[in-house]
Amino acid sequence: MSSELSDIVSKIKGTIALSFSYQAEDIVTLDLLLKTKAQDIEVFALDTLKHFQACKTYHKQVEDFYGINIKTYKPDQNAVDRLEIKLGEYGMRGSLEDRHLCCEIRKVKPLEIALQGRSAWVTGLRAAQSVTRANLQIVECDAKYKLFKIAPIASWSEKEVFDYISTHHLPLNELYSQGFKSIGCEPCTRAVKEGEDVRAGRWWWENPEHKECGLHIK
Ligand code: SF4
Repeated sequence: MSSELSDIVSKIKGTIALSFSYQAEDIVTLDLLLKTKAQDIEVFALDTLKHFQACKTYHKQVEDFYGINIKTYKPDQNAVDRLEIKLGEYGMRGSLEDRHLCCEIRKVKPLEIALQGRSAWVTGLRAAQSVTRANLQIVECDAKYKLFKIAPIASWSEKEVFDYISTHHLPLNELYSQGFKSIGCEPCTRAVKEGEDVRAGRWWWENPEHKECGLHIK
């Protein structure tokens, strides 16, 4: 994949932005992207103000591991204040509409700012992660953000991801050792049992076809 990704990014003129959301897939994707030696890369994270402490610790760990800065984008504080008055701490679980509102304010709006002026957006998405990602391609044109969207490990299995991490001795979010298989905000993510789907711990009160935060809706 490394040479295929090098070939893809060599055709991109302008800044390549990689969104880092503390997942195992993200550290693999980051490692692959840095190995391409592309010059104009920005690594960013969306600070929803609802992250696990483990994710904040991991953020710093990854920065130190690679000697890079992971830029953070935060939501508008006034919008968050109004949201917290409306929903309280766990009100996003009350309805799909309220959950989408929370994701819109804490994730989607900051992402719009993070991607402004970027030429490409690199993600750690995999097709096998969920029914909502089944048709994922390695390179797509993102009409909403008007850039190339690149998913270098689109066709990888979960096993390939963890094999890569192990082989290359990459740091892993400690939540994986506590039974988490997909990482999100603290109120909306739980550990899963053996045999459960990898995304079963995300918005576990919703149907699988609704389990997206709005960042990757086409
Ligand atoms: S994942 Fe949960 S806490 Fe995070 S932005 Fe979405 S609804 Fe809000």
